Amino acid sequence: MTVNILFAAKADSWAAYETPLKTALAEKGVSANLARDFAPDQVDYIVYAPNSTVQDFTPYTRCKAVLNLWAGVENVVGNQTLTQPLARMVDHGLTQGMIEWVTGHVLRHHLGMDSHIHGLNGAWTKEIPPLAEDRGVTVLGLGALGSACARALKGLGFDVTGWSRGPHDVEGVRCLHGADGLEQALATAEIAVLLLPLTAATEDLMNAERLALMPRGAVILNPGRGALIDDAALLSALDSGQIGHATLDVFRIEPLPADHDFWAHPSVTVTPHIASETRPSSASRVIAENVRRGEASEPFLHLVDRGLGY
Ligand code: NDP
Repeated sequence: MTVNILFAAKADSWAAYETPLKTALAEKGVSANLARDFAPDQVDYIVYAPNSTVQDFTPYTRCKAVLNLWAGVENVVGNQTLTQPLARMVDHGLTQGMIEWVTGHVLRHHLGMDSHIHGLNGAWTKEIPPLAEDRGVTVLGLGALGSACARALKGLGFDVTGWSRGPHDVEGVRCLHGADGLEQALATAEIAVLLLPLTAATEDLMNAERLALMPRGAVILNPGRGALIDDAALLSALDSGQIGHATLDVFRIEPLPADHDFWAHPSVTVTPHIASETRPSSASRVIAENVRRGEASEPFLHLVDRGLGY
């Protein structure tokens, strides 16, 4: 049987995904019509980006699943018209990209690279960093991305703590969970990496009280979502020296507005939501595998829990 797959994402994504998706579907033995337009009641699957014009799923009466191209689902998970299964993106390219961004920025701060990049101005001053094993790095969120980054940081020798909603076991990583676990996880976080999804439970997680739990001068890396941090509390903690530096990839409003205080703050590094990107070749294989599963009546991979919001 031939399935109809609607590609509901921006035009430039279509240019990037059309060939890889067709190739991946053929490799999985799925016979499919892939297009940007179908009569809604003829659509079997929707490959979806939350910034698509499709916001009302009601007319897609025979659609078996919505397959998100992004890892984050905060802009679609609450859509009341979406009753079909929703799968999010877990992709090799996304994971590897995040490992590279996180380890690079952790090493920057661990090694104090800035002082050398900005120049010592002729002063032969040596500041010897501790070995990685004596540097506490905490990863908040131990999902697809957080656990991969925690493993990579452990592989570099760091003293890694992870925190999540439920219990986890990541080899070599001190895994904590729940409210008490967060306090402990922050207490040793000389460098904290935020890899949580944005949900009602995680919004403003890093508020003034939690920032105060971290060691003085700690560094925050946020490649998760902007609203995990209370912006005003972070600016105040940076000004007081409680937080030494924040490297932020994600923001409440993107692009970050030109007049936002983060741009000019000397202790903030802004990266333009580039920590990790879904790569069309590997992501297409994930989409094709889920379509194959749907057609074989096998469980979909990476389903979102609507109740939890991720
Ligand atoms: P996952 O869903 O695989 O993992 C989420 C993790 O967060 C899980 O460990 C989960 O705990 C934990 N978590 C969720 N809610 C809570 C809570 N209330 N308290 C404690 N822990 C919680 O997501 P991914 O790892 O794939 O992605 C994480 C986020 O990274 C995405 O949601 C997205 O926002 C962001 N992202 C950013 C990118 C960028 O370029 N900047 C690129 C890709 C993703 P448990 O395991 O116990 O359920």
